[in-house]
Amino acid sequence: MARVWNFSAGPAALPLEVLEQARSELPDWDGSGMSIMEISHRSKSFLRVAERAEADLRELMGIGDEFAVLFLQGGATLQFALVPMNLSSPGDKVDYLVTGSWSKKAVKEAGVLRSVHVVADGAASSYTDVPDRSAWHLSSDAAYFHYTPNETIGGVEIHAPPEAVRAPIVADMSSTILSRPVDVSRFGMIYAGAQKNIGPAGLTLVIVRRELLERDTSHLPAILRLSAHAKEGSMLNTPPTFAWYIAGLVFAWLKRQGGLAAIGAANQRKAELLYKAIDSSPFYQNPVAPSCRSWMNIPFTLAHPELDVEFLRLAADAGLTNLKGHRSVGGMRASIYNAVPEDAVHALIDFMGDFERKHG
Ligand SMILES: *Cc1c(COP(=O)(O)O)cnc(C)c1O
Repeated sequence: MARVWNFSAGPAALPLEVLEQARSELPDWDGSGMSIMEISHRSKSFLRVAERAEADLRELMGIGDEFAVLFLQGGATLQFALVPMNLSSPGDKVDYLVTGSWSKKAVKEAGVLRSVHVVADGAASSYTDVPDRSAWHLSSDAAYFHYTPNETIGGVEIHAPPEAVRAPIVADMSSTILSRPVDVSRFGMIYAGAQKNIGPAGLTLVIVRRELLERDTSHLPAILRLSAHAKEGSMLNTPPTFAWYIAGLVFAWLKRQGGLAAIGAANQRKAELLYKAIDSSPFYQNPVAPSCRSWMNIPFTLAHPELDVEFLRLAADAGLTNLKGHRSVGGMRASIYNAVPEDAVHALIDFMGDFERKHG
C-alpha cells in the first residue's frame, strides 16, 4: 500500500485508522451480513451509530442542550441560503463580515433573499488581513451576524469569536471546525461541510441554538426548514448514512487523540513549523498578516512562478500531493487539517528546502 501525504483543501485527508476500520467493517457491519450503506437509516443499528456520533461531537465541542445538532446534506453552500431563510424574516437586516472568497459567496447568496449589510470588507488588504474589530459597522438591529472564521482559499483565520456582537453569531466553520477548542456558547449557529475536517463529502453539520428555530417558517418547504430537520432528528428524509457513520469514526478518533485541546496544540505546532520554514526563506512567501494566518490552509508562492509546475511535479514524485493553490490565487496551498500528521509537514518542509537549494 502506498499512501501519500495529502494536502488537499477538500475533500481532504482522513485518518488512516478510520479508513482501515471502515474497510474491515464494510462487508458485514455489526453482524448484519450487510454494509452500513445497505441498511435502513431507521434501523436500531443505524440509530445507535447516529446517536453515538452526535454524543461524541457534543462531548468534543462542549455543545449544550440548548443547541440542536443536525446532520444534513447540501454542503455549506446550501446553508448560505438556509441561514437567511431560517434566521431572519423579509425586511430584516443581516450583517456580514467579508474576509475572502467564501464570505463573499455567503453574502452573494444571502443577497438574493435579504438586504445584506457588510460590516467591514478586507478588500483594501486584498484579503490578506482582517479589518480591525474597531472598524466594523454593526447594525443595531441585525437578525444575525455572519462570518467565516477560516477562509480556506486565502488562508486567513480569525482565531477567536468576535467580541461585542449583540446579534446571534453565525459562523461558516467548514475548514476550521474541530481544529481547536471553541466556546460554542458564543454562537447562534455553526455550520460546516464535512469534507475538510469531519469526513466524506455529502454531509453538512449544523449546530444551532434551538430558540433561533422558533421563528415562523411555515412559508418554506419542509426540506428548507432547519426546525423541521431538528424536529425529525435529521431524518426528515434519508440522511447521508455512510458519511454520518464515517464522521462518527472520526469523532471517536479525535477523542482518542485527546480531544480538541490536544488536536489544537498539534495543529498550532504544525502551522508554526510551516510558517517558520516559509518566513525564513527568501524563496517562499506567505502574504497573510501574521495575526490572522490560518492553522489549516497555508498558501505560499515561489519567488519564480515559472517554477510552479516543476515544484508540483517533483512534490508529487516525492509523495506530496494536492499542493496546487486555488485557481483564483495561483501558487501553492498546503491544507494541514486534523488528519494530516506532523510527519507530513516535516516531509513538505524538507522537500521545500531541497527544491530551493536546487532552484533558488
Ligand atoms: C469548502 C467551503 C465551502 C463550500 O462547501 P460545500 O460543501 O462545497 O458547499 C464553504 N465555505 C467554506 C469556508 C469552505 O471551506
